[in-house]
Amino acid sequence: MQQLKVGVLVKNASFINGNWLTNNTQFSVHNPSNQQLLANIADAGAAEAEQAVLAADQAFASWSAQPASKRAEILQRWYQLVMQHQDDLARLLTLEQGKPLAEAKGEIAYGASYMQWFAEEAKRLYGDTIPAPSADKRIIVQRQPVGVVAAITPWNFPNAMLARKAAAALAAGCTFVVKPAQQTPLSALALAELAQQAGVPAGVFNVVVGTDAKAIGEVLTQHPKVAKFSFTGSTAVGKQLLKQCANGVKRVSMELGGNAPFIVFDDADLDAAVQGLLASKFRNAGQTCVCANRILVQSSVYQAFIDKLLPAVAKLTVANGLSSNSQIGPLIDKKAIEKAETLQQQALDAGATLLLGGKRDSSGELFYQPTVLGNINADMAITQQEIFGPIAAIQQFDTEQQAITQANNTEYGLAAYFYSRDIGRVFRVAQALQYGMVGINEGIISNAAAPFGGVKQSGYGREGSKYGLDDYTDIKYLCLGGL
Ligand code: ADP
Repeated sequence: MQQLKVGVLVKNASFINGNWLTNNTQFSVHNPSNQQLLANIADAGAAEAEQAVLAADQAFASWSAQPASKRAEILQRWYQLVMQHQDDLARLLTLEQGKPLAEAKGEIAYGASYMQWFAEEAKRLYGDTIPAPSADKRIIVQRQPVGVVAAITPWNFPNAMLARKAAAALAAGCTFVVKPAQQTPLSALALAELAQQAGVPAGVFNVVVGTDAKAIGEVLTQHPKVAKFSFTGSTAVGKQLLKQCANGVKRVSMELGGNAPFIVFDDADLDAAVQGLLASKFRNAGQTCVCANRILVQSSVYQAFIDKLLPAVAKLTVANGLSSNSQIGPLIDKKAIEKAETLQQQALDAGATLLLGGKRDSSGELFYQPTVLGNINADMAITQQEIFGPIAAIQQFDTEQQAITQANNTEYGLAAYFYSRDIGRVFRVAQALQYGMVGINEGIISNAAAPFGGVKQSGYGREGSKYGLDDYTDIKYLCLGGL
């Protein structure tokens, strides 16, 4: 077994009601960089999920009754502990997920920033008073925590996707049960250890780790004690979970797939656009839901853009995430690398041109070379599905209107990016793009102060920002009469 060297933060069982639950059956977690065994974890299922929901329900009354300042204090301590252990948490994350260590450190700080942000926001859960229609009445509006929140999170940001949901839920006064992805349970369990150290009371934060996602998911979406369900993952699974939530009329937040356009107009600063694309496309080896998926370049600058892009991409270093020079780590599993290969091959068969890369990398089974494909058109599958790999697929367009029409021609609406220095164009295009988030002359858009979320089939709800508590609170209207 590979030496984890992160001591107390390595946990191998679900965390429910303040206890580490073990059972006989185990599943193993492997390092995607070299397939080495990292840990054997107790495999929890529907029964443990139910136990966690009941514990969260029990804990709700006292947690929601705490003054906001008390919850804020605990969240601040959690934030500080995460930052104190940033290096160990990052190492654990890289080992189970594969991303370069520098990115993993960034993810830990990014995830922790939601704890800090919502610790502050907890104190600003304002209500409202509204002028009443008659003199003997008063209208008062309060926001109350919804109750038990259940969540399912993905493997591509195993720390941050969990932290930004949990921080908002706990700040609002909700209690929380999460099922992390089975590929990356260690980061989630380490957060539970630090939550306990920070003073989060038993039952307020629970982590159920197991391989039977369907069975655990059924409990988390259908248990009568769950008030709200929050999911980050694929659109297909999200749709299924939405249906499961419908019967109980659960409140739901969905952060689903994207198909981000990245548009380079003829008036763009091409060097800035290349830098933005490197960040947006190749971060996490292309495995983020806001990664540039369709790169649209105006024909008059197409060749100039390609000429600048190719040498920049060629410099990206592919290596085990723990190597200090690594910029592109492995893909998460065999299925992921096969999908990237298939999409690339289909595009080449349909007339695309291979400009760079295009093969598995010698660093290991799951590594793929940073790749650039030209002559892409909108009929190719690579423009219709999430690539989730380090392949930049580039199309051309002639007019602004064509770029907008092409960009919006998808059922997804998470993130879009465009580069232009013309102020009129900036406002026209920003307005016309049917996306929840638009990066303008910027390839990295997510931070705790900003509302993260999509439109269309990319889901609904917003994480982070002053809007981030809305998903975890209900509005209660008090009508005072007879005054
Ligand atoms: P990806 O393709 O990126 O792995 P998924 O949507 O399959 O995205 O996975 C996101 C999360 O959803 C993971 O935690 C996974 O275990 C969980 N999941 C997958 N299928 C189901 C299901 N049928 N019910 C509940 N959770 C599921």
